Amino acid sequence: MIIMQAMARVTSTDDKTEALDEAIALGSPVTGSVAERAAGAITQQLSRPLASGLYIVATPIGNLSDITLRALAVLTQADVVYCEDTRHSRTLMQHYAIGTRLKPYHEHNAEAERPHILAGLERGQRIALISDAGTPLISDPGFKLVREAADLGYSVISLPGPSAVLAALTSAGLPTDAFLFAGFLPSKQLARRARLSELAQVPSSIVFFESPQRAAESLADMAAVFGSRQACMARELTKLHEDFRRGTLPNLAASVADATLKGEIVIVTGPPLAALATDADISAKLAAALETMSLKDAAKAVSEAFGISKARAYDLGLQIKSNEAGKRP
Ligand code: SAM
Repeated sequence: MIIMQAMARVTSTDDKTEALDEAIALGSPVTGSVAERAAGAITQQLSRPLASGLYIVATPIGNLSDITLRALAVLTQADVVYCEDTRHSRTLMQHYAIGTRLKPYHEHNAEAERPHILAGLERGQRIALISDAGTPLISDPGFKLVREAADLGYSVISLPGPSAVLAALTSAGLPTDAFLFAGFLPSKQLARRARLSELAQVPSSIVFFESPQRAAESLADMAAVFGSRQACMARELTKLHEDFRRGTLPNLAASVADATLKGEIVIVTGPPLAALATDADISAKLAAALETMSLKDAAKAVSEAFGISKARAYDLGLQIKSNEAGKRP
């Protein structure tokens, strides 16, 4: 009941919040401290006037509950919400009973629409930008709008939240200390392999967006260009059929070679083996190889296995040899 009273106070000052009031009343139990506190937080947000500016609002990538309280408040209070596809985004707005006007901003109308959005900011409007899913501007429209709004001195405010990039990276089981987001690979094989060759030496995990139709071909090309490094294919993140496949690139490529993949896909590749290999790992392999091979051959075999330079393998091999010589009576 506390929720309803609090919301009633707010709705009396702002028509738009009636919709949110209804959403909370319908969608959440009115007892329990989590629900009360969540409603209290939104109530607090809604009771403060929203400043003029461009709000970049992250929205769910599948599970409609993955939205922040602040995002709900801003979408409710904004004068207009720009989105890629009004029909698609209406589902989210209706789910939370938010009645703010939706207008399209996508690659086909961006040039024509941008001056109107900037004029709205000049008039002091509160404008939200969302995309079909996740964080706007991440392989989605908005970069030029943000740049121009910032250049003209308007406030640009980020509301962080879901993105398939971080959802995939953080569940892949691959190094996260540094990573590169590479977006979508080219659709044609020649260009795709060329792009992969450019990325082959990047010493960190790489996150790729991929379509289900092309994922098998891309994994095969990654295996050909990147070799046998660890990777993860994340499908349908946050949705009912969320699914992760982890393994080496050749194994992943083989496992989907004849499969019909469906749903949304992110592929994360680990760093090149060379970036992960320590001197101790390389020396252990060299010591084993030196039992049957010459230094030259062992260095060649081990440099290929780890993807490291022959010189590094040779120097470590020399150290092993001189240590052995030192131990001899
Ligand atoms: N801006 C969005 C974000 O921050 O996640 C991404 C938009 S991009 C146009 C769409 C691509 O993101 C999809 O083709 C897929 O690669 C990835 N993606 C989006 N939602 C996903 C999900 N639920 N599971 C896996 N991948 C997803």
